[in-house]
Amino acid sequence: MECRNFKELLDSYLCQELAVETNHQLLNHAEHCPPCRAEMASRRNMREALRRACSQDRLSEEACDRLRARLRAEVSASESLIGRRQRWTSLFDLRFAIPITVTAAVLIVAAVVMLPFLKSQTTPAQLFELSEALLSEAASDHHKCAPKFIQATRAAVMPSTVEPTYVGLEKVAASGAEGLRLHAAHVCAPDGRRFAHLVYTRDGALISLLVTERDKRALKIGNLPSADVSLAGLQEANLKNLSLGAFQTPKHVILVVSDLPTAENHKLAQTLASPVVEHIRKLDGQSVAALPQYRFDDGLTVLIASLRKGER
Ligand SMILES: [Zn+2]
Ligand SMILES: [Zn+2]
Repeated sequence: MECRNFKELLDSYLCQELAVETNHQLLNHAEHCPPCRAEMASRRNMREALRRACSQDRLSEEACDRLRARLRAEVSASESLIGRRQRWTSLFDLRFAIPITVTAAVLIVAAVVMLPFLKSQTTPAQLFELSEALLSEAASDHHKCAPKFIQATRAAVMPSTVEPTYVGLEKVAASGAEGLRLHAAHVCAPDGRRFAHLVYTRDGALISLLVTERDKRALKIGNLPSADVSLAGLQEANLKNLSLGAFQTPKHVILVVSDLPTAENHKLAQTLASPVVEHIRKLDGQSVAALPQYRFDDGLTVLIASLRKGER
């Protein structure tokens, strides 16, 4: 059997559609031809990853069909490319095959991630949009509470009696708070919503770092989206002459509120909030663990599985 025949028959083989004798011929070829063997493993893993992704009931039949069509197109595109290279020199087979497989896999993963949004016609930005009530409560907390502490000079430490997530928050935030002066660390609820509150100043500007529970009321859609929260990103708003920047973890919203201009608050939000966001993400059980070292096809399976897990 030649490589070309092998590749033509491979899908049918994986679907168990071939006669026993043909199966043997294929296996025999794979045994002696490393590129074809790699191709077989790669397609088998992709099928498996796809099967797992599609076995989740969140994917509609139609969505699976789209994904399958996409996969088929990618595989045949990569085949024709590999075929062309092969005529030049078979030595480069694997080296070219790998990046092509990677491209196909990235497209598939992107498709899987985007499917819930395609289905609901809702963009990630809309899905994760914070409610005006929450933004206004955060702005109001900053207005009512933060000014009381401008003069405070005692070292501020979050009491150990607050929610476990908030204990030691000022220490977690310290690495992002360079150049800021901390005046207070406490939990307050001037309008009913509880916020962990760190009050800072920088060159006379008053800055609040607020953390609150990510409940249904925190989101504009009035519900917690099932999609992966890491797609939420930084959301910004201007309210009551204040600039707000907000991040989300599975169970919390982290806000940086100040009277700084929008662009400055934007920069500050990223540096100040980032260690806090990382810390709370871990506490909330969002796995942001680095993807393990793997062969790429195995990685695809892991990646899709983890994406599905994040959605639940
Ligand atoms: Zn071969
Ligand atoms: Zn406060």
